[in-house]
Amino acid sequence: MRESHKPFIAIACQTTLVNKTGTWRTQRPEYEAGISPCQSACPARNYIPKCLDLVEQGELRNAWEVIMETNPLPFVCGSVCPHLCEASCNREQFDEALAIRDMERFLGEEALKNNWLPPKVADSNEAKVAIIGSGPAGLSCAYQLAHQGYKVTIYEALPVVGGMLQVGIQDYRLPRDILQREISNNILLPFKVEVKANSPVSREVFQRIRQEFQAIFIATGAQKARELNVPGVNLAGVFDGVSFLRDRALGKLPPDLLKGKKVVVVGGGGVAIDASRTAVRLGAEKVQLVCLESQEDMLAYELDIQDAAKEGVELNCSWGPEEILGDDNGKVRGVSFIRCTSVFDSEGKFNPSFDRSIERSFEADAAIIAIGQVSDLSFLAEEVRSTPEGKVKVDDALKTDVAGIFAGGDTVTQPATVIEAIAAGSRAAHSINRYLRGEPLTLQEEGGRIVQFEELNLDYFEHQVRQARISEPLSAVEEARRCFSCGYCNMCGMCWVFCPDIAIRQEEDHYEIDYDYCKGCGICVQECPGSSIVLVKE
Ligand code: FAD
Repeated sequence: MRESHKPFIAIACQTTLVNKTGTWRTQRPEYEAGISPCQSACPARNYIPKCLDLVEQGELRNAWEVIMETNPLPFVCGSVCPHLCEASCNREQFDEALAIRDMERFLGEEALKNNWLPPKVADSNEAKVAIIGSGPAGLSCAYQLAHQGYKVTIYEALPVVGGMLQVGIQDYRLPRDILQREISNNILLPFKVEVKANSPVSREVFQRIRQEFQAIFIATGAQKARELNVPGVNLAGVFDGVSFLRDRALGKLPPDLLKGKKVVVVGGGGVAIDASRTAVRLGAEKVQLVCLESQEDMLAYELDIQDAAKEGVELNCSWGPEEILGDDNGKVRGVSFIRCTSVFDSEGKFNPSFDRSIERSFEADAAIIAIGQVSDLSFLAEEVRSTPEGKVKVDDALKTDVAGIFAGGDTVTQPATVIEAIAAGSRAAHSINRYLRGEPLTLQEEGGRIVQFEELNLDYFEHQVRQARISEPLSAVEEARRCFSCGYCNMCGMCWVFCPDIAIRQEEDHYEIDYDYCKGCGICVQECPGSSIVLVKE
């Protein structure tokens, strides 16, 4: 460098702020919340990154409230949800998916332990809404509507509230005391939702409800067992899966009902697995689960299958039931099967094929048939139409063919999952609210950019082992720290630190870009760990 009397660095004689360098820009960074893959995979669209960010800051109650916006049953879902969120978590491609389900369970337990109540209710609203069915769909709809101040009455056929949460999923997977407390604390008590238990809605009652209420949500689920069409189904000792589980949950079965007995369970879904495990608990000496599908094609979740196997349930795949064999006293003595060679046809439809030359019989004192459930829609007025498959017919806004009557959950989808039923309840509440306000029925906003693994800046993350069980706040914080925060600005400040133009301002709860000086270099976009800034052309 040439010797000079001038200073080593350039010093402006006046403020450089007059030079609005932002005018050079051809592209601009913008903060744009993307949708994380976990949130996108969750049918209820739980705002998981925000929840985990609050957990990381130790704000457990606020984190719980974020879940409560979309799901009033965090403990339930944290215990039994198939957690599609975890299967799509971007972290899975780095080390292991976040323990999102366990976090939800933990927050649900914390809420009950600390007696947290849901956020405030809107001013009361005179409109009255009837909900038929108190399963997760009905409860979720009641919660969302009551939260907006509507007067909600739930009609429930059974003496207990909760639908399949109470009488399908058994207590060894979902402890009853916690289930009941979660339903009461989060939904029924704070909002004074009226529940009419032991109130099956018949055709006549349905017409009366139509007169009394301004809107109705039908959430009656799929309660009836699908019938098996083989000889012997009426023999003594034959049960259908859902009734068997319901009776056991309602305390109608003696605890030693199957003591020392051999039991064959027919079916390959979750109900068959639960029926098998319940048979073990009722004292069965041997439980054989026999299904059409190969193990890979079974509808039951792999973890549930493994749990059943650990408890001694024997799995026999690719067999189709031929006959339930009886003795001279009209009692079950066994079940015969033929080889099932394929379950689905070339178009992917359920259309099993068999090889009758290969047979097998199982000795049995009892047979439990669990091959699916259907809805009982006999109470519906004729104008509320159903599909040929026996589901209530609805449009995307969950409206039936009759104004003011909506339907959702298993009665529309046929057996699905708890979280899908919860999502349907929320969606119906959104539609009912719009209907009662005389607004057009639009869908809840769902679009947006789903953040891909490749868009993340992994420089900021270290490999870290997933928490096996979140049991106290410390392990919750540790686990939440693993979250990539995909598409969600958690104010980490990397954009602010690296901006060469000092064009990013920190506000109380967000950052702002000063476009007078941002030259659009894109460093903030590159540095952002969770991809919550994008570059757009000017
Ligand atoms: P339901 O839960 O079936 O509730 C419907 C309610 O309506 C019932 O209480 C019923 O009594 C009431 N009702 C029906 N007809 C009338 C009438 N005419 N008048 C008044 N009330 C009426 N999902 C998971 O996500 N994870 C699991 O691990 C899981 N395991 C399962 C295990 C079993 C054994 C079963 C059966 C289901 C399981 N599911 C699981 C599925 C899940 O429970 C259902 O998808 C969910 O409960 C459906 O919710 P829903 O509100 O639509 O209906």
